[in-house]
This record gives sequence, C-alpha cells and structure tokens, in this order.
Amino acid sequence: MKISEILKQDKVTLSCELFPPKKWSQLEDAKLTVKKMAELKPSFMSITYGASGGTSEYTVDLANEIQNVNGIPAIAHLTCASSSKEKVDEVIGQLKANKIENILALRGDIPEDAPFPRPNQYKYASELAAQIKASGDFCVGGACYPEGHPEAPGIVQEIENLKKKVEAGCEFLTTQMFFDNSILYSFLYRTQKKGIDVPVIAGIMPVTNANQMKRIVGLSGSMVPQKFRSIVDRFGDDPAAMKQAGIAYATEQIIDLIANGVKNIHIYTMNKPDVAGKIFDNLSSIYIR
Ligand code: FAD
Repeated sequence: MKISEILKQDKVTLSCELFPPKKWSQLEDAKLTVKKMAELKPSFMSITYGASGGTSEYTVDLANEIQNVNGIPAIAHLTCASSSKEKVDEVIGQLKANKIENILALRGDIPEDAPFPRPNQYKYASELAAQIKASGDFCVGGACYPEGHPEAPGIVQEIENLKKKVEAGCEFLTTQMFFDNSILYSFLYRTQKKGIDVPVIAGIMPVTNANQMKRIVGLSGSMVPQKFRSIVDRFGDDPAAMKQAGIAYATEQIIDLIANGVKNIHIYTMNKPDVAGKIFDNLSSIYIR
C-alpha cells in the first residue's frame, strides 16, 4: 500500500525504522528483528540505505522481508551521493520487481574521497525523487530538518530547497529527530506558510543510553533541551534506569505531538523491538492498529 494513502486516513500512524546489517552472516538476525517489529503492527516500516553502520546491499532484501513476508507496508530508503545514476536505476528496478511501492529519496553523505557530483550522479535528493517518479508508479518521500540541514545557509533557504523537493514529486516528508517539540511546531508553521502542503511525519528517537546521546548530537547536531540533559546526567550511568527514562521521554514527546495535531509519528527504533514495544504499549489506547 502507498504511504500517501495511509497518511490520508483520519487516524494516528506509528511507524518504525530499521537499518540493514553489515554482513551477509547477520541477515537472518536482521530478518528476525523485522519479524519482532512487525508483530507490533506498525502502520509501516522503513529500512535505511546503509546508515548506522549497515550496508545498502541488504536494503531491498529487508524491504521485501517487511512487506512480502511480514505484511507491513515498506519504505525503502535510497541515496544517490555514493552511487552512479546507473546503480540508482538498478536499485529502483529491484524495488519494482519486489513490488515495493514506497521510496524515501535521499542524497546521503557526500563522499570525502571523491569529487561530487560526478557527471553520472544526482546532486540533490530532489533530482533523485524526480527520477524515481519517472521510473514507475512509486510513492516518493523525502527528508526534512526542523533544526536546519547542517549544509544549508539558513532556514529560509532550507525551506526554499524543501519546496523544490516537494515539487519534484515528494508526497510526504519525514523529519530528522528532534528533542524539543516547539522546534517542530515552528518549522511546520514556516513550511505551511511557504505552501508545503504534503504530510510531515515527525521523527522521534528514543535515546536509551548516554553514549547514544553523544553520537546523535555529534551526527545530527540536534539541540538537546535541559530537561533531557538532566535525565542523562541523573540516569546515564544506570543502563536500566536510562532506558526506562529514555522511553518515557520519547512517549511524552509523542503524546504532546498527537495532542497538538501532529498525527504521523515515525520512531527511530534502531533495530530495538523491545524499545519499540514499550512505546507501543504506552500508546495502546492512542494508536489504534
Ligand atoms: P537534499 O535534500 O539533497 O539536501 C542536501 C542539502 O542541499 C541541504 O542543505 C539542502 O538545503 C540543499 N539543497 C537541496 N536542494 C537544493 C537546491 N536545488 N539548490 C541548492 N541547495 C539545495 N542517509 C543515508 O545514508 N541512508 C539513509 O537511509 C538515510 N535516511 C535518512 C532518513 C531521514 C528521515 C533523514 C532525515 C536523513 C536520512 N539520511 C540517510 C541522512 C541524509 O542522507 C543526510 O542528512 C544528507 O546529508 C542529506 O540528505 P537529503 O536527502 O536531505 O539531501
């Protein structure tokens, strides 16, 4: 099923994100993780293209596992910065052959050791989104950054660029993680003012250990409110307490979002079905499967 159709329904959606393994020998474990996550009955599940230490080689396999084995609509992420246009077309063809209808079109990180873009590469996610739309009947989404993308000169230019991405064919946007909902609310105000009218799915990261927090802030540059810093200061050395507090914080963020009309929530579940399960339990009368 297309994500655009799911998002049109008048109900809360709760989706999960997984990343592929590094090695072929870990693929069966990854499939087990997919199964456990699918048992929670999320509205849909996405599988990253590489990222978080995994390899993009297994993205199509796991999208197939999510959708065609476990019956949950899948979004396959696809990036273009580290691939040629031919490679991108090959992956689109594989997704089509597996009847995967939803693709999150991303640029990915710019390779450090090569000039970018080379003549046979797409420079921006919007170019990739247009190519995917031209290649078949796909529902295409894109990423957005409530705190601004690290390379953008400012939020005004960033939203101009986001509008181009939507005009290129993105039918929904998923946000980078954020820890202070007021940042999302002011971003939504700006995007709506600019006429960006596609659904924006709020990306929530449950932070369950103190090291994860340091990595996230280093990678995404997300602002961490004092309220969350205090949690890490108080519970960071106690793994069980930190996990419980991180799940509670993410749950509270989600409840506040839904209460304020943001009905589509994507959880960066980081291959942790137990963490996802606790959040789903906490929302059992709010998210109706
Ligand atoms: P773009 O939309 O191309 O934007 C990149 C920069 O270019 C921005 O600063 C933007 O403002 C600017 N820009 C865009 N269009 C124009 C234009 N026409 N003119 C001038 N400037 C422009 N990475 C992975 O490797 N694998 C994944 O699976 C993955 N999944 C992700 C999922 C989500 C929800 C998010 C938020 C990020 C994900 N990433 C992933 C990380 C992402 O690839 C990086 O953040 C990357 O740096 C930017 O990707 P983008 O698609 O947002 O790029």
